[in-house]
Amino acid sequence: MPLKTPEEYLESIKREVTLYMFGEKIKEFWKHPYFKIIEPSINTVRKIYELAQMDEYKHLMTATSHLTGGTVNRFTHIHQSVEDLILKIKMQRLVGQQTACCFQRCVGFDAANALYSVTWEIDKKCGTNYHERFKNYWIGVQKEDLMVAGTMTDTKGDRSKRPNQQSDPDQYLRVVEEGEDGIIVRGAKIHQTGFLNSHKAIIMPTLSLRPGEEDYAVSFGIDTNEKGITMVYGRQTCDTRKMEEGKYDIGNWKYGGQEIFVIFDDVFVPVDQIFMKGEIKFSGDLVNRFAGFHRQSYGGCKVGVGDVLIGATALIAQYNGVERVSHLRDKIVEMLHLNETLYCCGIACSSLGFQREAGNYEMDMLLANICKQNVTRFPYEIGRLAEDVAGGIICTMPSQADFDSKEVGALVKKYLSTCDDVPVEARYKLLRFIENLSMGVASLSYKTESLHGAGSPQAQRIMISRQGNLEEKILLVKEILDID
Ligand code: SF4
Ligand code: FE
Repeated sequence: MPLKTPEEYLESIKREVTLYMFGEKIKEFWKHPYFKIIEPSINTVRKIYELAQMDEYKHLMTATSHLTGGTVNRFTHIHQSVEDLILKIKMQRLVGQQTACCFQRCVGFDAANALYSVTWEIDKKCGTNYHERFKNYWIGVQKEDLMVAGTMTDTKGDRSKRPNQQSDPDQYLRVVEEGEDGIIVRGAKIHQTGFLNSHKAIIMPTLSLRPGEEDYAVSFGIDTNEKGITMVYGRQTCDTRKMEEGKYDIGNWKYGGQEIFVIFDDVFVPVDQIFMKGEIKFSGDLVNRFAGFHRQSYGGCKVGVGDVLIGATALIAQYNGVERVSHLRDKIVEMLHLNETLYCCGIACSSLGFQREAGNYEMDMLLANICKQNVTRFPYEIGRLAEDVAGGIICTMPSQADFDSKEVGALVKKYLSTCDDVPVEARYKLLRFIENLSMGVASLSYKTESLHGAGSPQAQRIMISRQGNLEEKILLVKEILDID
């Protein structure tokens, strides 16, 4: 099968799903008025399919599958070299630059790369055949160029209790029934990036599990419209601006992210789609490897979004006539420095990648965690500097309806005007775009997701403390000072 075109992708996700939005059960979401809210997130995924069709981006956006020998979208590729790991980061930066938001397709990509080696290792230890199953499943994904969500975060209930100690055992997704032909699972997975826009999902446990928690150590593939799956669309700041007539108040009206609250109400999973069931010892490996790959990802995607925000900041300085003011120039230099530091982290953890026994390549775990730890901070500082340079007008400006008003519009335009050669409409759009990334819908992608996506800051600090090798560092100083 050739790569899907953006149009084929769009048609392929027009399927029957159980979806709720603003308290309403939505049938045929692509025909519903709320599609205006959903559409930018679909456009973003469409962009990935579009870029993969373009000759100039083929080296980044596609790869040769080691499973089929065919050309696949890189978002479905299992890394076969350090170069693949680096190309992944470059591709993510490119897509971030083109969309200025979360483009959603990396989670399933990262889950697949983690599962590839973990299933191999479970089989080696336990004599199971998960790896072969997973490969067959993934060949189907590659051949049909499918979008796959990666699904990890449980609702977690009382955080002081383990999964099997919760008064409601469904607070962590678990196996509730088991038969010859498959299992039945129940639970909910939240913060599910792009789930509605995905054909399939890979479900993983949310934490490292212990004896007695075998029912929670489950990983499988599922169609996102499988019977028993209910999606509740995540609310985002200023989302209903997309329902308004004018588009400028949206900020980035073409593209956007999407987060779904997904409920699994006794969903059947056939045997050939199960990739882990009860192997608690490997649950931590799966969680950590997936998190590692996704922490690597942030060194590409957020950098691309940062590129656009830096561009917007430099442009607003020009529009305000202050592009030569030295302290503003220096603030833009600082933004560049922070953004490229994140890129350095993404490239570094990829460059030090290594080959697993299963044959695929994985990023350096310590450096991937350093990468993500910086991502929890730098976009906030980059955003703060953007707001500093742009000025308070980003959150006090009248609406587009007033901007376009026959009565007051001319006055609004007159007093929003700056330099003679700057069209006031361009300045209006740009200020709204900066607002959008700072505190509107896109701030979710650029800030909150940078903080909590792929694990909150403390999760990286735990990994850094485990991998930082303090003992070796103590030996270094002892050696120099002749201390036994
Ligand atoms: Fe991809 Fe970044 Fe979105 Fe994660 S946050 S899905 S890495 S764009
Ligand atoms: Fe994310």
